[in-house]
Amino acid sequence: MTDDPLRAPLVAGDRRALARAITLVESTRADHRARATTLLDALRREGREALRIGLSGTPGVGKSTFIEAFGMMLTERGLRVAVLAVDPSSTRTGGSILGDKTRMDRLSRSPNAFIRPSPSATHLGGVARRSREGVALCEAAGYDVVLVETVGVGQSETMVAQMCDLFVLLLAPAGGDELQGVKRGIMEIADMILVNKADGDLKPAATRTVADYAGALRLLRKRPQDPEGFPRALPVSALREDGLAQAWDDMQALADWRREAGHWKANRASQAAHWFRSEVREGLLARLTADGVIRTRMVELAEDVAAGARAPEAAAREMLESLGVVDPVSAGS
Ligand code: GDP
Repeated sequence: MTDDPLRAPLVAGDRRALARAITLVESTRADHRARATTLLDALRREGREALRIGLSGTPGVGKSTFIEAFGMMLTERGLRVAVLAVDPSSTRTGGSILGDKTRMDRLSRSPNAFIRPSPSATHLGGVARRSREGVALCEAAGYDVVLVETVGVGQSETMVAQMCDLFVLLLAPAGGDELQGVKRGIMEIADMILVNKADGDLKPAATRTVADYAGALRLLRKRPQDPEGFPRALPVSALREDGLAQAWDDMQALADWRREAGHWKANRASQAAHWFRSEVREGLLARLTADGVIRTRMVELAEDVAAGARAPEAAAREMLESLGVVDPVSAGS
């Protein structure tokens, strides 16, 4: 097998090679996919590992400001930082919540940082694969920390958590004592909650919000992958660069503990298995819908179901049987 010309410069840390490799994994062209898969496989053998941090928050909470300040702090400490964005909104609107404005000006000029805006994609499965492969490329390029940013909508958080070692939720100070409608599921995957804008007039509200969330986190079942005191809520000010060093210390403490306790490895292993199953599912669907006859039958049956002529379950069953997929229940009886 020929050595991909992007491999050596990418491993040497060349940002242009990394950017081109990411463009390659984002492509859906069959020859690009094949090349990307071979390249990723070769890079895996480098065995490089970064700390992958997922970061989520609603628009306006201060993600760009935080990532810029946090990223600058890390680069000033000699770490190489990559920032990737996962923007599920681009799948629907073609536009993007995350990528449009000029963001992270200072960080993007740092030689130790690499920032990649979100690709526009057609479906969430595509976004997941591209992001995951983007993370793997940054890791192979020798970045110490890979930040994966996403907006707090839909399923993107769960998806990002599945490709990261730590998951951080960024919140704004709440007005009242309500928990900002943060869904329980998100609380359960968060390793840290950072309440941003803990400065000026907002400081008292931020302090209260931290206390509320600290209380809510204590009520959640303790997870085996957490040492004492985690998941944790902290106040930060991305604008004033307050609390960022503490947040980083805590992230490292958590990551170190998990490495020593074996959770880190176990987590990565179960993530890999998860993505394998997801790839098989996606691949199966893609292959089926690539077949014209099958596609037509799908459309016909969907129309029948929509018109009320068939029940969804019966139509699905007929579809699966026409594909030769045997129902394990009826096959066994
Ligand atoms: P994003 O949409 O989550 O990326 O949020 P931005 O980083 O663009 O920030 C949204 C707004 O909140 C901007 O006007 C920021 O200046 C402001 N902001 C961000 N971080 C802080 C902070 O720590 N304190 C205060 N007071 N404002 C902040």
